[in-house]
Amino acid sequence: QWIYLDGKFVTKKDAVVSVYDHGFLYGDGVFEGIRVYSGNVFRLQEHIDRLYDSAKSIMLSIPQTKEEMTEIIVETLRKNEYKDAYIRVVVSRGVGNLGLDPFTCKNPQVIVIAEQLALYPKEMYESGIDIVSVASRRNRSDVLSPKVKSLNYLNNILVKIEANLAGVGEALMLNDQGYVAEGSADNIFIVKGNVIKTPPGYVGALEGITRNAIIDIAKEKGFDIREEVFTRHDVYTADEVFLTGTAVEVIAVVKVDGRTIGEGTPGPYTKELLEDFRKAVTSDGVK
Ligand code: PLP
Repeated sequence: QWIYLDGKFVTKKDAVVSVYDHGFLYGDGVFEGIRVYSGNVFRLQEHIDRLYDSAKSIMLSIPQTKEEMTEIIVETLRKNEYKDAYIRVVVSRGVGNLGLDPFTCKNPQVIVIAEQLALYPKEMYESGIDIVSVASRRNRSDVLSPKVKSLNYLNNILVKIEANLAGVGEALMLNDQGYVAEGSADNIFIVKGNVIKTPPGYVGALEGITRNAIIDIAKEKGFDIREEVFTRHDVYTADEVFLTGTAVEVIAVVKVDGRTIGEGTPGPYTKELLEDFRKAVTSDGVK
């Protein structure tokens, strides 16, 4: 396995970073997770745009142009000869001194890891998953924007711990006003009647690329899809609930905080959108 690190390709064993890297010391950096399906890098341009926007927001200047970054990602795939993969792009502030000041870090560090992915078990898609809402809140949009996909995922990790302690794999994060925001690493959708809803970005959610793909697909199909604020009550009483994300794709949620959703099995909208999403992933992107 070849990993792009500091301008060259190295083996997994040699892919090590300095303990003075502020990505390590402070979680100071940004990242992306990207999927490759049959040699098609799904919505690569959107991922690159989000990476550069995240970096700009935290005043981190990525040394490469977007075109060069695209080339590095494609080259990493080629070198590993992967057709189906998960790519992690990390840009950290780089090596500085022990102080917080990011301006002591002169060279941002770019890392690209491609891995053959462990797919989620098929049964999970067939039966759906249980989730719980947790005490940890999504951070406010007026401080560090939830749109920044930063290396500091402590909040999401606390959410994951709460979910694990409750005996489930994923959780529902609310924002500081109690509105539904997202999961620990995925966006949420609810269906009631023939209306599909997902929280708008300002509620406090990452603008997921899978989420946007699902919105596009639903619109093309003429579904009534809306970005609207909602509460846990709306989730509990929905006919269908599903999560979207690069890793998980589209997965049905069949129980939330012990309340059974709909019939307790993946519903028709969820199934149809997953099927359409899986058709789109091999064409919508960079070959
Ligand atoms: N929300 C958070 C906090 C995430 O980390 C992710 C994963 O990347 C998502 C949502 C889903 O976004 P995407 O569909 O771009 O993977």
